[in-house]
Amino acid sequence: MVLDEKLEPVYAAVTARNPGETEFHQAAREVLESLGPVLAKHPEYNEHKVIERICEPERQIIFRVPWQDDHGEVQINRGFRVEFNSVLGPYKGGLRFHPSVNLGIVKFLGFEQIFKNALTGLPIGGGKGGSDFDPKRRSDDEIMRFCQSFMTELFRHLGEHTDVPAGDVGVGGREIGYLFGQYKRITNRYESGVLTGKGLDWGGSQVRTEATGFGAVFFLAEMLRARGDSFDGKIALVSGSGNVAIYAIEKIHDLGGRVVACSDSDGIVHDEKGIDVELLKQVKERERGRVSDYADRRPTAEFVAGGNLWGLPCDIAVPSATQNELTGTDAERLVRNGCIAVAEGANMPCTPEAVRTFLAAGVAFGPGKAANAGGVATSALEMQQNASRDSWTFEYTEERLAGIMRDIHDRCFETADEYGTPGNYVNGANIAGFIKVANAMVALGLV
Ligand code: GLU
Repeated sequence: MVLDEKLEPVYAAVTARNPGETEFHQAAREVLESLGPVLAKHPEYNEHKVIERICEPERQIIFRVPWQDDHGEVQINRGFRVEFNSVLGPYKGGLRFHPSVNLGIVKFLGFEQIFKNALTGLPIGGGKGGSDFDPKRRSDDEIMRFCQSFMTELFRHLGEHTDVPAGDVGVGGREIGYLFGQYKRITNRYESGVLTGKGLDWGGSQVRTEATGFGAVFFLAEMLRARGDSFDGKIALVSGSGNVAIYAIEKIHDLGGRVVACSDSDGIVHDEKGIDVELLKQVKERERGRVSDYADRRPTAEFVAGGNLWGLPCDIAVPSATQNELTGTDAERLVRNGCIAVAEGANMPCTPEAVRTFLAAGVAFGPGKAANAGGVATSALEMQQNASRDSWTFEYTEERLAGIMRDIHDRCFETADEYGTPGNYVNGANIAGFIKVANAMVALGLV
């Protein structure tokens, strides 16, 4: 897609100032592509160079993370925290531990997070962090030593009113526990609101574990409802088998759909009878196993090493593994096979070609910054409970999450309409998220 002529130089500056950071370029370009008509309506954004400022993180921290493995050998990893934008609240966003993590990946995720967090309507800015540490096949002791070393540097940048990390790929309840323990020890403060995704016994929120997956399905349900349809009897594919995928599958089943396949980096599991969520939880959450272990124990399931999920017929697809996992060719196959709705459970799992294909075919497409905002929204609810030293019930918290997802859907839907692209949730999300942040940036002066 061509960029508005005012935005061409802005994008050129982003690529020139951030060489080699292809995922960041991709995320920035996707937002800029939506903003031409916004600048026409709001010349003040141009005057205040809001877009140029939004593309430049407020602060970027890179640090050494030394630790010792179980053999006594010294290991060195690199840690990152990109504090991208704080006009709406403290920097908020997860930590990702994965060998693919580098500055460009963290910046793409942090950039997405600004708009996602704005869409939740809650007072949270945007940030992201992580490390190129690979948690796969590491012992609990190694994970703990790594988390302690990571926090020994990161703690000085955090605070409940400053920067509040949470989990992402490779960071779940276990890691948040070790990180929180070290923060508490170094600072001598029981500052619950400094991290979210905590355990239920020590300041965590109900529904936080389920929130991203549940939220993505609530968003899908709203998109289907807007077209006079529902989940009833629908066949779905959910890629991945981590925290997002597991709870997306659970909620799709609750709402009357059937998920027939999921995956991990080794391959896919196809289960015509529908994925057995309890067995999947047992294998993935308790045993930290692989989807091939699930297939070994489930007579109706078949494991295909290195298989591509997107060739299977379905009505609904929820890519919930990682960035750029679903290509233009995959999207064409999905459309040909009758797919009518897609929601991004992961961050930017669809390539720009895939997104274009879905939009051109009239598929209801929920971009990640809207569809997967339920996780961070529930993190903000966790902060709210921590601040008031309260804890809410599962039912009440889930109701709040469902309401937030409905509001995000409606805001994206109405904004897409207002800007002349009805049904285009990509434009709706980019524009609605951007305007909220941009207005605050103008109001707060040159900061
Ligand atoms: N990592 C999640 C995301 O991509 C959640 C972040 C949070 O809860 O702060 O939005």
